[in-house]
Amino acid sequence: MSNIIIPKELDMADKLALMNEDAQYEVGVDGEAESTALLCAADIKGRPGPPKVPKMFLSSACVFNCAYCGNRCGREERTVYSHTSSELAKIAVDAAKRNGHGVFVSSAIHKNADYTQELLAECVRVMREELFYYGYIHAKVMPGADPLLIEKTGKYANRLSVNIEVAQSSGYERIAKQKNKANILTPMGNIAEQIQSAQYDRRQFAVSQTTQLMAGSTGEDDRTIMTLSGALYRKYRLKRVYYTAFHYRHEAKGYEDEALPLTQTPYWRMARLYQADRLMQLYGFSSDDVTPEAEPFLFEDIDPKAAWALRHLDMYPVEVNKADFDTLIRVPGIGLTYAKRILEARKHAAITHDLLTKMRIPLKRCVFFITCNGQYKDGNTVLSPEIRNALRTGPDEMSIGQSLSDGEHTT
Ligand code: SF4
Repeated sequence: MSNIIIPKELDMADKLALMNEDAQYEVGVDGEAESTALLCAADIKGRPGPPKVPKMFLSSACVFNCAYCGNRCGREERTVYSHTSSELAKIAVDAAKRNGHGVFVSSAIHKNADYTQELLAECVRVMREELFYYGYIHAKVMPGADPLLIEKTGKYANRLSVNIEVAQSSGYERIAKQKNKANILTPMGNIAEQIQSAQYDRRQFAVSQTTQLMAGSTGEDDRTIMTLSGALYRKYRLKRVYYTAFHYRHEAKGYEDEALPLTQTPYWRMARLYQADRLMQLYGFSSDDVTPEAEPFLFEDIDPKAAWALRHLDMYPVEVNKADFDTLIRVPGIGLTYAKRILEARKHAAITHDLLTKMRIPLKRCVFFITCNGQYKDGNTVLSPEIRNALRTGPDEMSIGQSLSDGEHTT
């Protein structure tokens, strides 16, 4: 049996200190900033990243035993804390006001999912009705939570989320034994339905939901992840899928039979997944485009848009004076913003390579894929031997720009 330490009199300062150990910042609010939330390669990035909001935890006393989580009940020597709903509401409102962008309220599964969800629902109610906080609230939904409790929580939150965690349902048994496909997807479906019906009924309810998926937790390939993400966006109308790196750094009690290897998914893989995700959501790429059957893993050295271009050299060169918007945004080095600039500039003058340089379009990447008035620049063609080298991006160029959770305490 694990050695759970619940100090008799944990004062607020102690609880806050423990909570801060768990709390990471969470990607923030909706809107344009979020649509380009994560910094990608030069031609996939857009505007700055979204604001981050503080995460506040109701309790760390989890009854689940997810192998990767520091708050799992099977962990030796853990000190747990719990707030009342009113306490957390006050802390959360203070943090939201300090941060200026909102707050994320979450919890480990304290006693059971419905009990925890009820406390969270009460917390967000107090924030709105007693503390008169009207800013952004993102509230967590517990696996398997009752629809009525989801409704109570969603009444006061702007966003809800339940984490899918693994890309393959067999992964629950492997790393999160108390979770399963049903207790994750059922609330996700319920949230999607309630968002839609609330808009129809003009009932107050959250306007968006997101989820989090740990890459590398089941040895899956990127094609599996992107196929799942595409399905989640379509079926549950998710606002975002967030990708976190699976870390398994200490052997967890209760998982001896699984013999899980200690592992840490590399940072670059997250960056590539976010790039692939943005290509699917904003650029019209399909999961097959970014991760075809023949190449199910994203590359470390080449971003997924450049990789797609290298697989489809027969579609290039693109004549920048004639190509439409959808064709231009498939050119490495030309993203949504640059494509709009080119279309606008075309109204006034023929586009030349010099003009592209003046428009700050990165010729280093796109020069192999475009012609201006029928001419390549300096003999660079799609057959140039240095094409792949020119498209490589180093780690400093593929920051994902967010301090997302490292896979611990994700609930
Ligand atoms: S991931 Fe969530 S449910 Fe799993 S042990 Fe951690 S806090 Fe509990």
